[in-house]
Amino acid sequence: MACWTESARSCAPPSRGSRIRYAVLSDIHGNYEALSAVLADADRAGARALLCLGDMVGYGADPVACAEAVGERAVAVVAGNHEHAALGLMSLRWFNPVAREAALWTRERLSDGLRGYLSALPLTATVEDATLVHASPRSPEEWEYLMSPDDGFEVFADFGTRLCFVGHSHRPGVWSLGSSGREHAAWFRAWPVQVRLEVGRRYVINVGSVGQPRDRDRRAAYALWDLEERLVSLRRVEYDHRGAAARILAAGLPRALADRLGNGF
Ligand code: ZN
Repeated sequence: MACWTESARSCAPPSRGSRIRYAVLSDIHGNYEALSAVLADADRAGARALLCLGDMVGYGADPVACAEAVGERAVAVVAGNHEHAALGLMSLRWFNPVAREAALWTRERLSDGLRGYLSALPLTATVEDATLVHASPRSPEEWEYLMSPDDGFEVFADFGTRLCFVGHSHRPGVWSLGSSGREHAAWFRAWPVQVRLEVGRRYVINVGSVGQPRDRDRRAAYALWDLEERLVSLRRVEYDHRGAAARILAAGLPRALADRLGNGF
């Protein structure tokens, strides 16, 4: 991971004047195989710093390794609902039985140090001209899903930056608003998806899920954000999904969590 610069390790944004390209990751969900593949891809693509939108833990067999890897590298991390679930900060009432079992399993594996780190994560962060939030910039603690075209357009008043990066639905998508109107795109089939950031437009971008994609494409999803080129590139990366599924089964987690990695849904 030689590309993750000294500045990234000290948790300060990369210095200006150099080419600034961020890797934006969300919903890693304890899938270390997927995270490793994404970090290697971002490294090859020249990413200089890492941003994380939460849900590092929950579902997968390696929550500790994933949270530690992100914690060591990221310049900004926000909490997801699965961090809050594993920490006991939210009721598991709305979790389905499989998610609840995984949350309780994860809770038992967090060290005091990691609990402290995760507990201190904010719900939103601002990096350059982007808001980072796990689910929605509107009442982030309510973990609303932005799924439909209207869902995304309704939250543009809830953040002040030009860009807002979200995750949570595990489905990449782009909402854009400007004087020439609204644009929405999702369910992409050709990758990478290049989102050129146009002057006078604002954007909500769902970067998809590293560790548990749900758009019928099992490859890990993440985004590269290039400030100089004014470009967000939504990418997919092949990874050892069979290995990740085997780790879930070996950990005694529900089989459904292993099976869905192969389906991408
Ligand atoms: Zn998630």
